Amino acid sequence: MAENILDYTRDELAQWLENRGVRPFRAGQIFKWIYLRQARDFDEMTDLGKELRGTLKENFVLSRLVLEEKQVSKDTTEKYLFRLEDGTHIESVLIPEKDHFTLCVSSQVGCAMDCQFCLTARGGFVRNLTVSEIISQVRDARFFLIERGIEPLSLSNIVFMGMGEPLANYENLIRSLGIITDTDFGMKFSPRRVTVSTSGLVPRISDLGNQTDVNLAVSLNAVDDKTRTRLMPINKKYPLKDLLRACKDFKMKPRNKITFEYILIRGVNDSDKDAQTLVRLLSPLRAKVNLIPFNQHPGCDFKRPDKERVSSFLQILLDRDMTAIVRKSKGDDILAACGQLKAKMFG
Ligand code: SAH
Repeated sequence: MAENILDYTRDELAQWLENRGVRPFRAGQIFKWIYLRQARDFDEMTDLGKELRGTLKENFVLSRLVLEEKQVSKDTTEKYLFRLEDGTHIESVLIPEKDHFTLCVSSQVGCAMDCQFCLTARGGFVRNLTVSEIISQVRDARFFLIERGIEPLSLSNIVFMGMGEPLANYENLIRSLGIITDTDFGMKFSPRRVTVSTSGLVPRISDLGNQTDVNLAVSLNAVDDKTRTRLMPINKKYPLKDLLRACKDFKMKPRNKITFEYILIRGVNDSDKDAQTLVRLLSPLRAKVNLIPFNQHPGCDFKRPDKERVSSFLQILLDRDMTAIVRKSKGDDILAACGQLKAKMFG
């Protein structure tokens, strides 16, 4: 069966070509067609020669994901529901910013982390996404922009904050990041504009720092082990102390900061004392805090704190010189906001 060419790194494609007596630099040309010029099929690759195009067509598919549904929020955020080849589903969210777009991509079908506040967790874990499935979310979103008459490179930022735990699909994550941040032949994203968010898979945090220059975001969500374990079972395995140590040791450029996401849930983790503890925990780190007032979804009892509580919590951080913002939730009217992705519960 034909393989998906989007599963290949440039080195692997070069090797594949070389094995068939084709000069390996052709891999770079092919990559440019796929990722920079957004080619839809091999016939567009006019500088390759007919024979090579034929070989590629015989052995590879160059395809798009099946877009089953697109929803557009009042704030123009778009959520895409993709059907994968095995019939499972994932979602990606395209978020318009002032002068660019950010794409929130999924890394797994479902998620095994079982965070109590997150809708994705409800459906359990199905499987890891392949490299082509990760990469296609980005390539296809750029097609959607082209179809709207918008410059595809204006999609310049990626956050791995969709469905799944990216660091639990580590190998495919790293391979995808290689293609995404390849500026010569790949998708041309600056690593500074790519963020990988994790629930706290401690050993993989240092790996990520050693192997890439992308930004790290950590879903912290609580300041003591008891609360965090209740909200995020992964905390049993990797408690706060280990997590914060891994963050302290995370290798990054001198002026970079780790983003700590903190969902504010009424009566659970939103007290002044929690805010003070948060400052104490994070002040030894190069950190910034994204407060996310809990996004409600059906069947979950947690509540969002009122506006005053959110502002007091934020003020405590700011008064103590923490960099902190309240993340504006986009797309919550179409269940596209943080923690609301369910992809028809996958099947
Ligand atoms: N598994 C990774 C990537 C998913 S990111 C991680 O946990 O970081 C999804 C983000 O949305 C996380 O920061 C999570 O804390 C947040 N989130 C999940 N459910 C939410 C909800 N109901 N309301 C607000 N934020 C939520």
